[in-house]
Amino acid sequence: MIVVLKHGVTDDKRDQLISWLKNLGLQIHISVGAYQTVLGLIGDTSRVDMDLVGSLEIVDAVKRVTEPFKCCNRKFHPEDMVVDCQGVKIGGGNFVMIAGPCSVESEEQIVAVAKAVKAAGAQMLRGGAFKPRTSPYDFPGLKATGLELLKIARQETGLPFVTEIMSVADLPLFEDVDMLQVGARNMQNFDLLRELGKMDKPILLKRGLANTLKELLMSAEYIMANGNEQVVLCERGIRTYSDYTRNTLDISAVPMLHELSHLPVIVDPSHATGIAKLVPPCALAGAAAGADGLIIEVHNDPIHALCDGAQSLRPEEYAALAGKVKKLREAIV
Ligand code: PEP
Ligand code: MN
Repeated sequence: MIVVLKHGVTDDKRDQLISWLKNLGLQIHISVGAYQTVLGLIGDTSRVDMDLVGSLEIVDAVKRVTEPFKCCNRKFHPEDMVVDCQGVKIGGGNFVMIAGPCSVESEEQIVAVAKAVKAAGAQMLRGGAFKPRTSPYDFPGLKATGLELLKIARQETGLPFVTEIMSVADLPLFEDVDMLQVGARNMQNFDLLRELGKMDKPILLKRGLANTLKELLMSAEYIMANGNEQVVLCERGIRTYSDYTRNTLDISAVPMLHELSHLPVIVDPSHATGIAKLVPPCALAGAAAGADGLIIEVHNDPIHALCDGAQSLRPEEYAALAGKVKKLREAIV
């Protein structure tokens, strides 16, 4: 249920209403906007007399929220959420370019790619240290060493980085990480989501390979219900019967998620397509659909990449794409 307060209500009167609602055993999510304050009521609202609340002098409207997701529901938080990652803002008109290799392979590699993507205008670096691989015989990432190399790349370039966490057991290693990624395969690792909800760090939550938008939002809800509101959603392609691409980029997910939720939504055209030459057109499509950013795999030597070389752009290809994204955004914003 949401309670929309009238413009100009005093803090005193608002707090009185909140403590009355809390006494009914409800959790209250408060969203203070420029024009209106919205109280989101979480819990068993069957005991709340909607007519009584609606008749209060300070209340503008009372509405039931039928969706099972509450904290990430736009009805609870009408204004866009802006996630701040070490000063890099994502959402609410702030567009982020995140780029880097699929996996961290060596200091030379990650520093060279970080410098190249920075020169092309990227504001954040990506790179996997813990890699979820379909085959147990494939390169699993450099793990703790990979995280250290990401920190070196950050020091060399000033770019904050995002990197994937696969297990709650690895959490202590992620203390000095700027943004934690929950990959597609872990979107419903509920224990992990709950723990990330207790952290004070932004989370990049990728849509599962075969998950609905409601399931994605319920996963975001796990993180947010535990206290961490800094969640960025990522559309990275889903499994369909498409035969020539790795996945199918669900472009309509971007405006739909924006309608349902106030969380920023970014697009990953690399995993969506699996093919480097398809990355630029799909990246532009994502930006045109209103995405709040793009996460793109870039490698200085894609042919010899230890993971996802076929979908990785070379630095010069990334720079050319970044220029086009900028022009496209100028045209549509
Ligand atoms: C990745 O970002 O390298 C990755 C493994 O992505 P996803 O979880 O979307 O497959
Ligand atoms: Mn990858």
